[in-house]
Amino acid sequence: MTIQLGIPVLRLARNNSQGPAPTSRPAGLPSKLLDRFGRQATDMRLSVTDKCNLRCTYCMPADGMQWLPKEAVMTAGEIERIVGIGVERLGVRELRITGGEPLVRPDLVEVIATLRARHPELPISMTTNGVGLDKKAEALKEAGLTRVNVSLDSLHEEVFSQLTRRPFLGKVLAGVEGARAAGLGPVKINAVLMRGVNDQEAPELLEWALQRDIELRFIEQMPLDAQRGWTEHGMITAPEIRALLSAEFVLERDRRQRDGAPAERFEVRRRHAATGEASGTVLGTVGIIASVSEPFCSDCRRTRVTAEGKIMSCLFSREEFDILALLRAGAEDDELMHLWQDAMWKKPRAHGMDHAGLGTEDFVQPDRSMSAIGG
Ligand code: SAM
Repeated sequence: MTIQLGIPVLRLARNNSQGPAPTSRPAGLPSKLLDRFGRQATDMRLSVTDKCNLRCTYCMPADGMQWLPKEAVMTAGEIERIVGIGVERLGVRELRITGGEPLVRPDLVEVIATLRARHPELPISMTTNGVGLDKKAEALKEAGLTRVNVSLDSLHEEVFSQLTRRPFLGKVLAGVEGARAAGLGPVKINAVLMRGVNDQEAPELLEWALQRDIELRFIEQMPLDAQRGWTEHGMITAPEIRALLSAEFVLERDRRQRDGAPAERFEVRRRHAATGEASGTVLGTVGIIASVSEPFCSDCRRTRVTAEGKIMSCLFSREEFDILALLRAGAEDDELMHLWQDAMWKKPRAHGMDHAGLGTEDFVQPDRSMSAIGG
């Protein structure tokens, strides 16, 4: 039987009359991170800390987050071993460092330098809120970081402070410039729009990004906030984002192969105020990550490891696999590899968070917030 939800396709020795795919991994599969639905994970998201210096309203409560004790967090050496297995034995082809806020980890430069020394060709990117990035960008580049995504939801201090609960807009803007100057590009910007807070700022954010030749990506707000304040009505959907931008820009879907990328990309032209027509020149591109309204699970290539070394095959996984505990118990690489493959094999077909799933038993909000998983 061929189960095809995206590419590549895994041929399983089964047919429909045999019922659902087995939850235990059949013997004899290749050494890759394969799941029951024919997907292969090649993109690893690695959280290096659960701590953060912002308190974005869609992610964390104002107070009361319980941080992991230091000894629970993977050391640089443990990270090196786990990433090494992913890359050298299981087909991981790109690594994204995330958190929490990766920049608050004191040995971040060392972590990256260690990974770079072992994997000279591996693309290593980082998602960061940009606070303090101007001061560390050069060292990170020198250590071997390839590029960064910076999260920025507003260009207005008041709105930024309302969303992040910290008055750090200037620091983030300095961080973006520092990353560009250090050659950590192409720098991409991630923005989450919140109804009645920063949604009307969408065209201004795009204008700002286009002027700097930066790719902006809008992310639909997902139900991954620690305080469980997400509502379907509150979320600004991808169609709404396109409509907000259309007041000033004409967007044309980029028809090139998406290649597992979460963002759907659009070419941007200016809308002529009088005629409403598109101006001739393409000014740049904008991405929209429609995880909720137009999910892309069938093409997902991600595997995640949390700061305390738990493998999650999906942001919405209810089941976690403790690779760090196994490693600390003295396991051989083969055992760690098999645990990771088992975790991947059990990856759910979809997160159940589309409109059909929300509010039904298909969708259960996970216990972890985005910051505790690693977005
Ligand atoms: N601290 C870093 C940062 O701010 O980029 C990395 C971690 S943060 C959890 C990664 C990304 O997740 C950010 O772009 C953030 O905006 C996004 N994010 C957090 N909570 C989210 C949610 N509930 N829905 C959608 N995106 C979210």
